Amino acid sequence: MNTFSGRTTGNIYVARLAKGDDLLAQLNAVCERSGFRQGAIELIGAVEKAALGFYDQVAHRYATIRWETPMEIASGMGSLSIKDGKPFVHVHLTLAGEDGSCVGGHLCEGVIVFAAEVILREIETDRPLERTPDADTGLFLWR
Ligand code: ZN
Repeated sequence: MNTFSGRTTGNIYVARLAKGDDLLAQLNAVCERSGFRQGAIELIGAVEKAALGFYDQVAHRYATIRWETPMEIASGMGSLSIKDGKPFVHVHLTLAGEDGSCVGGHLCEGVIVFAAEVILREIETDRPLERTPDADTGLFLWR
């Protein structure tokens, strides 16, 4: 376990995303505009289609699952931290279809926004929330 202590700065940045754009690209743009380097991300809304990742814990790679149907963003949450010296967005989504059943996973490129509301909260920690390669998982994790 790696732990960090810190606080929320009280600074927030709020955005409504545009229809038709890529969700991950827009979240990166929102975080860049905010000027925050570290933060907590939450969002709700709807998507026109989706692509979510599932990490194969043996093969150490993501499989991408795609849906070509509209869905609600029942929940979206994640973090803004540092990777390769730059702010990096990591978000997981729970998406609900028209019968209310949900799917979920790691936000990938290819999730197209219908509408979305994002709240970003800046956090400060005693040392940077920096992602580095982790041999046990094959992921870039906070060191
Ligand atoms: Zn993930």
